[in-house]
Amino acid sequence: MNTSFAFPAGLKAEKKTLFGWGRTNPVNCQVVKPESVEQLQKLVRGAPPRSLIARGLGRSYGDAAQLNGGTVIELPTFDGIVLDSEAKLITAGSGVSFDQILRVIVAKGFFLPVSPGTRNVTVGGAIAADVHGKNHHVDGSFGSHVLRLKIVNGNGDLQELSPKGESIDVNAELFWATIGGMGSTGIIVEATFSLIPISSSLISVDTSRHQNIDSLMAAMVEADKKYRYSVAWVDSLDKNGRGVLTCGDHAAFSDLPKEEKNNPFFL
Ligand SMILES: Cc1cc2nc3c(=O)[nH]c(=O)nc-3n(C[C@H](O)[C@H](O)[C@H](O)COP(=O)(O)OP(=O)(O)OC[C@H]3O[C@@H](n4cnc5c(N)ncnc54)[C@H](O)[C@@H]3O)c2cc1C
Repeated sequence: MNTSFAFPAGLKAEKKTLFGWGRTNPVNCQVVKPESVEQLQKLVRGAPPRSLIARGLGRSYGDAAQLNGGTVIELPTFDGIVLDSEAKLITAGSGVSFDQILRVIVAKGFFLPVSPGTRNVTVGGAIAADVHGKNHHVDGSFGSHVLRLKIVNGNGDLQELSPKGESIDVNAELFWATIGGMGSTGIIVEATFSLIPISSSLISVDTSRHQNIDSLMAAMVEADKKYRYSVAWVDSLDKNGRGVLTCGDHAAFSDLPKEEKNNPFFL
């Protein structure tokens, strides 16, 4: 495969060995960080087929965000965050991490609609992998909360996508192929998604222990009717499959202990 080509003027490449969170299968790549949509478009237009891949914060467990001998696009400068508190919406650059977003929105009384087990993922990576959280049974995966996307497609064209039924009903099919598409439809550059209102940053948690997997699963089915978040841990070395079930909801301000009420959005 021919993966060498001339980069647009001003775009520097850095040679790096990359791997995923599992630290398996390291590969040598050149990493580029375009600083504008226009520079990204030029890069895509000049690249031979299958020579580029996008990468967020590399939190994929496997090798989804690397390309042996190829060019890996990171977008840390696509870092805009615009919060529309009234509409409970946020528009963020694809290189923005959930950590960066939480530092802006929690103090304003909002939370992400879906959170994976780490806040060190980018908006682009979360959409490309359509991440799920502990509220999957109630809220579905992250893509269900995205209202608008901008991508640079394989021809280098900037496209605006939205799901059917939204105000700008364009490219719905491509929108849904991009959600969970692992970067195969193009490079996501920006997304608008909804937030959930919270009246404190705390979660009210109930935990129960179960001596076998049947009891654990039965409790989880019941808990899912009552709680927004639930997660079970199973001891697979135990012959009965004992486990722990943890369930939670965002704590209402009125339920906070007196001392927490002074700083309800503590992070
Ligand atoms: C400790 C830990 C806990 C986790 N818990 C969960 C969990 O509870 N639920 C869950 O669903 N996942 C979970 N994950 C997995 C993680 O959420 C996903 O792998 C996520 O995609 C990582 O985001 P990233 O920004 O690091 O993307 P990367 O790993 O860098 O990339 C992931 C994929 O997205 C593509 N991509 C990245 N940016 C773009 C872009 N701008 N445009 C187009 N494509 C792009 C890449 O090419 C690649 O295919 C967890 C991971 C860790 C390390």
